[in-house]
Amino acid sequence: MKAAVLQAIGSPLVVEDVPDPEPGLSDLILRVGACGICGTDLHMSENSDPNIGWRMLQPGCVMGHEFAGEVVEVGRQIRDDWRTGDRVTALPWIGCGECANCQAGRGYRCQNVINRASAVLPGAYADYCRVGGGEAIRLPDSVSFSEGALVEPLAVGLNAVRRARLQAGDRVLIIGAGPVGLTVAMWCRFFGAQHIVVSDLVPARAQRSLALGATAVVDASRGDVPAQAADAANGPPGVIFDCVGVPGSLQLAIDYAAPDARVVVVGLCMAGDHLFPTKALVKELDISFSFVYRQEDFATVLHLLGEGRINGAAMISDRIDLAALPEAFEALKQPNKQIKVMFEADN
Ligand SMILES: [Zn+2]
Ligand SMILES: [Zn+2]
Repeated sequence: MKAAVLQAIGSPLVVEDVPDPEPGLSDLILRVGACGICGTDLHMSENSDPNIGWRMLQPGCVMGHEFAGEVVEVGRQIRDDWRTGDRVTALPWIGCGECANCQAGRGYRCQNVINRASAVLPGAYADYCRVGGGEAIRLPDSVSFSEGALVEPLAVGLNAVRRARLQAGDRVLIIGAGPVGLTVAMWCRFFGAQHIVVSDLVPARAQRSLALGATAVVDASRGDVPAQAADAANGPPGVIFDCVGVPGSLQLAIDYAAPDARVVVVGLCMAGDHLFPTKALVKELDISFSFVYRQEDFATVLHLLGEGRINGAAMISDRIDLAALPEAFEALKQPNKQIKVMFEADN
């Protein structure tokens, strides 16, 4: 099969022939219908620092963890549960299925987890990919493969908003209008926040959040974000999401927060950072960190997509085929106006 391979850290992807995936006893093989390009893949493909506090990619890997597709092969142990032709999305990892973390839907904490984009579990920037039967979930008929591929980033946003313990009437400030910031805006809207202000250094990026749930935008390049945000929301923000994840962005969130605010860090900062804890202490901020999602979040998001109660398709800003994926991936490393670029097999 063809796949877009990361031959070396920091180098462009190359579409080449790789071995077809083989199903383990409890695995499914999917023909990939769609796979979103994710900022995490962009960051990790360039990161060669082993001290990021998370795993590092190895040369020769295939990324792509936001996908949906059609089952073309079913592992021998799970043939009562799955059929070829089933349309599914899946959690990106494969857990042991038996430990307390797996049972709690947190396979990413499993001691024996197999991570995607590893040598044994290539990702879905490819014609086919392997998923765990225990991690797969069927798409409702009304949900396309591309919408199915949005379940993962939407689940990231859902988990972040849960961490914020959002309440109706909250004044929210979202720092960063990338895909994560936009999904967070969408869920803040869904859960009834009164003011949802999105701030970005690029005004055009902030503007597009208005179609996805934001009630106002702030042009951070004009400076004094707290005053602009308070203006837009009739008061200082009580909930702040750091959806940027670069050195200094958490400090900004702390600086912008009202006393007693909840700060949720969602952006993945791949470098050491320096901050002034006292600034958070005197405001008695609740700072929490949000990482991925629980398995049940996938089911929740899929249900809401299937019922048309959330609109994921508004996030898709471009659709490409596999041959165009390396060029699109490189383009996303530069400043751009894309939200979610979707690789679609039938494009
Ligand atoms: Zn992602
Ligand atoms: Zn486990």
